[in-house]
Amino acid sequence: MIELEWLRLYRVQLALRTPFRSAESVQRKKDTYLIQLEASDGATGWSEISAQTDPSYWPETVATCLEIIEHHLVAQLRRGFASAYEIHDALVAVKGNQMARASIEMAFFDLAARTTGVGLWYLLGAAPERTHVPAGVSLSLNENVADLIADLTASRAAGYRHVKIKIAPHHDTILAALTDYQDPSGHRIMDTLVLDANASYASTNRGDLASVDNLGVALLEQPLGEHDFVGHAELARHLRTPIGLDESIAGVDDVMTALQLGMRPTINLKPSRVGGYVESLRIIERCQREGLHLRIGGMLETGIGRAHNLALASHAAFDRVGDLAASDHYFAKDITPAFALEPDGTIARPDGTGLGVVPDSAWLAEVPCREIRIRY
Ligand SMILES: [Mg+2]
Repeated sequence: MIELEWLRLYRVQLALRTPFRSAESVQRKKDTYLIQLEASDGATGWSEISAQTDPSYWPETVATCLEIIEHHLVAQLRRGFASAYEIHDALVAVKGNQMARASIEMAFFDLAARTTGVGLWYLLGAAPERTHVPAGVSLSLNENVADLIADLTASRAAGYRHVKIKIAPHHDTILAALTDYQDPSGHRIMDTLVLDANASYASTNRGDLASVDNLGVALLEQPLGEHDFVGHAELARHLRTPIGLDESIAGVDDVMTALQLGMRPTINLKPSRVGGYVESLRIIERCQREGLHLRIGGMLETGIGRAHNLALASHAAFDRVGDLAASDHYFAKDITPAFALEPDGTIARPDGTGLGVVPDSAWLAEVPCREIRIRY
């Protein structure tokens, strides 16, 4: 039985090496909190709040997560938990607020794995032999075509197998440049390219998507609004390009909705967006049963969130390269040991118990920390 004593919130303010733009927002730094849970026996577990400071990608923000954690979720933690799965049932007493719930649940999974002496990946049912996860990089939206193509070429040269490019309506010059693109070794790379529209075609002429369809890319992610399952299903009947769902997937029920409408979407899974690992595992099971492709998404995480994503993405169900890039793509200096891109285009899953990494102790000593007593 694990009894939680303390919840600590460590302030993270890490400048991104370059600002990250999508159709929805511009992010210049990782501005969030790490979560540390401490049990009565002194065992600890780590996670991070993956929300952004603004609700442009997802309704939650860092501020709403803090409010929900402190005033609603902590109250659910004042009893013992026999397993990482029990805590999920306690946390779903709070409706919605997936990223807030996930930050607690995912820290608890790390703690439970460390307590048991196993890797988090093991607790998640991931494959022992998948010690390395294929790396993919998501490039910032850039309407300067020359700069975007330079970023794409640099990513290919660095060894990234898949590249995601953010697009929005009326980016015809970007689409034209991609049509003729060859990487430094002379390869056309359309079958490794993902275009992510971040719901930006929701209110425009969907005819614009014909030029996207002509490119023959591997995946078109979230062209329409997050609630527009009917629109996505209709689009899937008319486009040859496979459609991915990202913002639309808040839980396994959303996967079922898409299936019931006749879609076979590639699922972009961000564990924090679905409330944590228990719901992620339900989605994984459903994707495996239905034969849906699965990829891991990203929220510009620090090394703590990146270690979480590596543990989950080493599950055998992830059959598409996701948005998991090396630490140096995002930060000059991360708060954990850096995750590096291997020569074969993969990133090593950390060894060791739990996440396999903890935040740098010198960094922890410097940043503001707020402690919340869970049990009295
Ligand atoms: Mg996306």
